[in-house]
Amino acid sequence: MKPIEQMQTPDPRNVEHWRADFPILGERVHGRPLVYLDNGATTQKPASVIYAENAYYRHSNANVHRGVHLLSQRATDSFEAARATIARFINAQRPEEIVFVRGTTEAINLVAQSYARPRIKPGDEILISAMEHHSNIVPWQLLCEQTGAALKVVPIDDTGALDADAYERLLSERTRLVAMTHLANALGSINPVERLVAASHARGVPVLLDGAQAIAHLPVDVHAIACDFYAFSGHKVYGPTGIGVLYGKAALLEAMPPWQGGGDMIRSVTFEKTEYNEIPWKFEAGTPNIAGAIALGAALDYVDSIGMEAIAAHENELLAYATDALRVIPGLRFIGTARDKASILSFVLDGVHAHDVGTILDHHGIAVRAGHHCAMPVMQRFGVPATVRASLALYNRHQDIDALIEGLGKVREIFGT
Ligand code: PLP
Repeated sequence: MKPIEQMQTPDPRNVEHWRADFPILGERVHGRPLVYLDNGATTQKPASVIYAENAYYRHSNANVHRGVHLLSQRATDSFEAARATIARFINAQRPEEIVFVRGTTEAINLVAQSYARPRIKPGDEILISAMEHHSNIVPWQLLCEQTGAALKVVPIDDTGALDADAYERLLSERTRLVAMTHLANALGSINPVERLVAASHARGVPVLLDGAQAIAHLPVDVHAIACDFYAFSGHKVYGPTGIGVLYGKAALLEAMPPWQGGGDMIRSVTFEKTEYNEIPWKFEAGTPNIAGAIALGAALDYVDSIGMEAIAAHENELLAYATDALRVIPGLRFIGTARDKASILSFVLDGVHAHDVGTILDHHGIAVRAGHHCAMPVMQRFGVPATVRASLALYNRHQDIDALIEGLGKVREIFGT
C-alpha cells in the first residue's frame, strides 16, 4: 500500500454519489435517519450487488458444473467468472487459487485442518498475535489439542501495534505456520504484512493472513505480499453473507487433502476408491453458494469502479476527523492508537458500560458495536470488559461522526459524567 500522503486526495462530493448506491442508507431507525457505523461487523450492500443476486435467481438459477442445459451453463459461467474477478481483485496468479468458502472463519479452519493438521507434530508451534479475532485463535487451539502442538502469541504494545521484534524472536525452528491478521478488528492496527511474510519465509515458514477487515479498506495484492494463504468474507466488503474466499498458492492447495467430502469435489467414486477433483473444486464439497459468489463478484466490481485507493483516502480523512473530534470528549479513552491504523474507532467512556453507550446511541439512530468484538484477549490486554466500536465504510461522512459526537453528549448527560 502507498503511504497515505501519496494517495489520492478525497473528494467529499463523491461520498454523496456513493451513498446513493446503498438503498438501506435511506432507512429510519427509531424515527431518525440511520447512521451506520458498524461496518466492521458487516457492510451494507450497493444496489448492484442486490441486483446481481436477484438477477441470478430470476434468470440463471440452476446447479453448477453438472447440467448440460442452458441455465446450468449460465450459472456455471457466472460462478466461475466471479472466481476470476476475485483472483484479479487480490492479484492471485490463477483463478484456481480462489476457493469459495462460507467466510473467513471457514477459510481459516480449512487451512488448520487440511494444510496444518497432517504436517504438525507434538512440540511444533503455530504463531499468532495478541490482536486476533477468535476466528484466528480457536481453530489453532483445536489443532493444538488434536496434534500436541503449541500456540505462541506475539505481543502488542500499548497502542495496539504488533511488537515486530518479538515476532522475529518468536519465529523459531519449531514454528510451522504463522496466522496473523492484516487489520485488527478490535483496534484498527494494520500489520506490516510484507515484512512479516519475508521474515517468516526466511525461516521457511508459510503465512496465512486473516484479511476479514483489510479486504474492504486496503489494496490487497497477495502476489506482492507473498503470503501463502489469505482469507476474507464477502459480507465485510459490500457482498452477501455466507460466501467468502480462501486464497492459497496453487502448489500448497494441490498438496493438501480435501477438507470435506461430497459432491463437486470428486472426479470419480467407487466403494473402493475416490479420485478427487482438481483445485479449487477439490475443496468445494456440495452445492456452493452460487448466488453469493456471483454477488461477491459484483461487490468487488463495485469497489473497483470507485477504486480502493480513493476509498482508503476517504476513510483515512474521516478517521482523522473522527479521532480529533472524539479525543476531546472528557472521560473518553481510545483502545487502539497504532500509527498504522484504518477504519476502526474503539473506545471506552468513563463510568458508562459500552453496552449502555451502544443502546443509547441506537435510540438516536446510530448503529455502533459494543462488546468484546470476538477479541476477548484484546480486551484482557487493555484491562477493559468491552469497548464501543465505530467502524467506517466508504459511504460514511462527516455528518455521521457529528451525529456520533452528539449522541455521546446525550450519553454523558444521562449518566451525569
Ligand atoms: N477475522 C476478523 C479480523 C474479523 O473481523 C472477523 C469478523 O468480524 C472474522 C475474522 C470472522 O469473519 P466471519 O464471521 O465472516 O467468518
